[in-house]
Amino acid sequence: MLFPPSLSDFIPPDHPVRTISCVIDGIQIDNIIAKYSNTGAKAYHPKMMLKLLVYVYLCNLYSSRKIEQAASENVHFMWISGMQKPDHNTIARFRSSRLEGVLKEVFSQVELLLVESGHIDLQTIYVDGTKIEANANKFSFVWGKAIQKNIARMKERLNELWHYTELVAKEDMANVSKPDLTDIDPEKVEQTISTINGALKDKQIDKKKRQQLNYAKNNYPGNLRKNEEKLEKLGERNSYSKTDEDATFMRMKDDYMKNGQLKPGYNLQFSTQNQFVINYSNHHNPTDTKTFIPHLEQILEMYPDKVNNVCADSGYGSEENYDFLETKGLTPFVKYNYFHKEQKKGNEAYSEFHPNNLYYDANTDVYYCPMGQPMKLQYIRTEKSDAGYEKKVHVYQAHNCKGCPLRGSCHKAKGNRTIQVSHKLNKLRNKARELLTSEEGLKHRSQRPVDVEAAFGNLKQNKGFKRFLLRGHEKVEIETGLLALAINLKKMNAIKVA
Ligand code: SF4
Repeated sequence: MLFPPSLSDFIPPDHPVRTISCVIDGIQIDNIIAKYSNTGAKAYHPKMMLKLLVYVYLCNLYSSRKIEQAASENVHFMWISGMQKPDHNTIARFRSSRLEGVLKEVFSQVELLLVESGHIDLQTIYVDGTKIEANANKFSFVWGKAIQKNIARMKERLNELWHYTELVAKEDMANVSKPDLTDIDPEKVEQTISTINGALKDKQIDKKKRQQLNYAKNNYPGNLRKNEEKLEKLGERNSYSKTDEDATFMRMKDDYMKNGQLKPGYNLQFSTQNQFVINYSNHHNPTDTKTFIPHLEQILEMYPDKVNNVCADSGYGSEENYDFLETKGLTPFVKYNYFHKEQKKGNEAYSEFHPNNLYYDANTDVYYCPMGQPMKLQYIRTEKSDAGYEKKVHVYQAHNCKGCPLRGSCHKAKGNRTIQVSHKLNKLRNKARELLTSEEGLKHRSQRPVDVEAAFGNLKQNKGFKRFLLRGHEKVEIETGLLALAINLKKMNAIKVA
């Protein structure tokens, strides 16, 4: 060797590390820089740290100690870090604190670069979700139902003690009115127990009752305070984990024990185009239907007026979601329950007694059952979703089912048959059916599994990412963002090489 080699000589021109460096050099990171203090020791440049982190997520290296080691030993890591060697604490701090709340903006800038370079146009997006295990102990659960049961038991026991006191200390309790124990709080419980204690003070009472009273006095107010805190953390969820309070217990596809055990995790939603991740979001709710609108709202905020078509599977086909798409002017290539069954069997997908197969006269708003009996509108019920969406359900009833020869096949409930119909959902489903069976719809339906599902396959199988490393929703979002950037930049590099 005539001259000492440069590190760059060891990096092939088409290596993904060069793509990462080039793309991150082209974006603004003012929001990350704003998180640094102007005083203190000189920090590593945030662009170098960001490049390093995206590259480690591309290499399936997630531990900060292993990243520190790689930055000293691996030529690609040394090149991207410019021979600087941040220690594991600096790496962990940058990942969990400096990137908190700002990585999405960085991600959207990279997306817009992908649009500029013609890799995506954001016109059509494919949405799907998967569950990823949280970094939490699977036995650290807090169940909403158990808390409610516990509160109900306290109320029951307080009522029992009150009645007992009324019997034993009749005279003392004669002028005391009973508190309303249907809704209890620590102060009310303390007050009730103090009244009972006062009345029973000089009385000879059952030893067991005295023990119950002492237990209630020493534990109920404190337990109730703890339960109130837990209920606040739960919000609309049924469960959470004590070791990652943002994680909810949900059923995972990767069930190694084959016992259907619920594990703490997040419902990760991806929208993709050409296998590039367009948006990512992690949700507490295990049901995909409820994650659709918040996920799409993020996309519409990041890329206003760009998205036209939204494609998703039947897990997302609810009235609320269809209505949202219509309001936002988005074309819904979204399946609904029974879509595939309908395609195979047509009207035979439903029995002749199913409301979909009953004759409906829109002018008179009357359904006709297979016996030709009119089913008139009885009332309209409003169902409210967790997000506040109001669904109108029309309830129709047959006049007289007594003695009908078809009754055994028609319905099993007592009395005359009732059916419940949402006309709005039917209308929105008809529109979706028309779109899904059109030429464009067929194209999107065949593209969806190889687009968004391939991104999940890449994440879980190729990258082996099945469990988050960090705890808490904000930090989990950072990890997902780094993974999504790594997936996109790797794909961009692969296209460049091809
Ligand atoms: S049971 Fe009632 S609703 Fe069903 S077919 Fe007979 S008359 Fe009609």
